[in-house]
Amino acid sequence: MIAFSKTFFILTLLLGVLTGTFALPEASAARDQSGFDYRYISGRKYYRAYDIARYYRMKLRKIGKYYEMQGNRGRLVFNPNKRYGSYNYIVLNYDFIPIVQNGELYISSADFFNHVQVLLNPLSLRPAGVRTILIDPGHGGKDQGAAGLRYLEKNLTLQVARRLQNHLRKMGYRVYMTRVNDRKLELSDRAKAANNIKADMFISIHMNAAANRSVRGVETFALTPCGSPSSGANKVQYTRYPGDTAVNNSLSLAWNVQNAIIRTVRAADRGVKRARFVVLRETRCPSILVECGFISNRAEENQLGSPAYQEKLAQSIAIGIYQYHRNLRKKN
Ligand SMILES: [Zn+2]
Repeated sequence: MIAFSKTFFILTLLLGVLTGTFALPEASAARDQSGFDYRYISGRKYYRAYDIARYYRMKLRKIGKYYEMQGNRGRLVFNPNKRYGSYNYIVLNYDFIPIVQNGELYISSADFFNHVQVLLNPLSLRPAGVRTILIDPGHGGKDQGAAGLRYLEKNLTLQVARRLQNHLRKMGYRVYMTRVNDRKLELSDRAKAANNIKADMFISIHMNAAANRSVRGVETFALTPCGSPSSGANKVQYTRYPGDTAVNNSLSLAWNVQNAIIRTVRAADRGVKRARFVVLRETRCPSILVECGFISNRAEENQLGSPAYQEKLAQSIAIGIYQYHRNLRKKN
């Protein structure tokens, strides 16, 4: 019986191969763990945008100068030879430029894993629970941060952080603050605090400033992935950081918070960005840094100082956190 089964099995296998039922791996197909064909462009690995779109059952089309990938999972925009794009109308900064070759759009494999997959598929995120949140009001004490005409950054960050704490507590989270009064704190100590209390999330609150006083708007930072350049920079870096383990969750959190802020307070969208700030790279949990607006812009400074606007900002950050959390729970 055994001998017969074996022979039968081998025959079936042979028949399968001959009739093409069992596909043997093609030597010519350059495919990696993503399952997509790849090619190297300027020394970097790229996938065909069409293959990615088909995988997610999305439609890829060219509209004027940009490309849109749209389906049930949302809408991604790519601009050939530009780092900026968007997801569901919120500005994103890709790691590397998308490239058009022979009329076809190619997306770097880094961006597939660091942006496309993270945003389109919640299953790619770590299903960590969210119970304890550490809020970090930027600057403090001698370190006053940026100075506007009427307000100091260190005071505004604390005011927004306190309001955020109230909202998150009402939502049932256990919330801590790196500082509750006007005192100086080292960046590394802020990150250490998150690791010491085993926080599930770290939210750093800052106000922005620029020499050009017309610049305004909100931007949210997540850690730059290993092997990619930060936003606005080109240098690729391979140093490993504790924050690497949560880097995808951090990007998802950053998108959700930026999205909630832009939709609620209607500030200018400066996008989800990447940086290797100490508080992002040294924290082991999902971490973001929110630049709530420009203290160097007269109109925005006045808004940032108003209790009503601070309340709206804090509420929208809390909503973004909740939406990120809900998205994680969809997994189960
Ligand atoms: Zn700051």
